[in-house]
Amino acid sequence: MKICRYDDQRIGLVHDDAVRDVTAVVEELGSFRYPLPRYDPFIANLQSLKPKLEAAARTGKAIPLDRVKLLAPVANPGKIIAAPVNYAKHLQEALADKGIHHGNLVNEIHKAGMFLKATSAVVGPGEGVKLVHTDRRNDHEVELALVIGRTAKNVNAAAALDYIAGYCIGLDMTIRGPEERSLRKSPDSYCVLGPWLATPDEVGDPGSLQVSITVNGEPRQDASTSDLILGVGELIAWGSSFYTLHPGDVILTGTPQGVGPVKPGDTMHARIDRIGAMQVRVS
Ligand code: MN
Repeated sequence: MKICRYDDQRIGLVHDDAVRDVTAVVEELGSFRYPLPRYDPFIANLQSLKPKLEAAARTGKAIPLDRVKLLAPVANPGKIIAAPVNYAKHLQEALADKGIHHGNLVNEIHKAGMFLKATSAVVGPGEGVKLVHTDRRNDHEVELALVIGRTAKNVNAAAALDYIAGYCIGLDMTIRGPEERSLRKSPDSYCVLGPWLATPDEVGDPGSLQVSITVNGEPRQDASTSDLILGVGELIAWGSSFYTLHPGDVILTGTPQGVGPVKPGDTMHARIDRIGAMQVRVS
């Protein structure tokens, strides 16, 4: 199942090149009173809602995909955890290029740990990236992103895939410079999630997915998640040893080699096997 959010906070299922509106099913979740939950209620209830979503899609009107504005597939992620240097070839390019490392200590992920991106940075592909500090290098980092489906704490890697609600493409947009990652990677719109949430049955083994991005048609990054240093299960295990992971939390698994700058006016096309593809404009 491929579940998208689009236009004015609508929910749809994606089949071929069309979206079918299933928003009415989600309205059953009701409204929430203060204090609001730390998890995403739709993602938390996704498993039980699936039969109703499928039924609603059978009768819902089909809207061509190119006519909708795609939003991020998770409305309310509690946190976004990201892996900084999780491909060996990206570590090598980061060490070799001062324009990437800026004198920061760059280490492989076991030493560098993970970092958090602000949830206010999240946008969908239809919203685009609005650059700030354009006097500095602003880079694309295309990454496999996963969304946690149920509460996880001290999960072991072998069991970790059972905690996944689905996968999407993540763009970990980054201002290069000497400051902490969380500052440089968290401006508004610097976390693009899309084009939709692909459930685990669609994706299969997350360790064998080709991940790529072009900018204005020029190939930039193209690698396989088989080269991840810490795989999806290990990242969930490690993350859940520090934090309780809640439904809707996002983990960005790290970017491969080939990161490069974007500028206003550029168009990025990102793609991951068995998930889909998305176009994102930069302004
Ligand atoms: Mn990254």
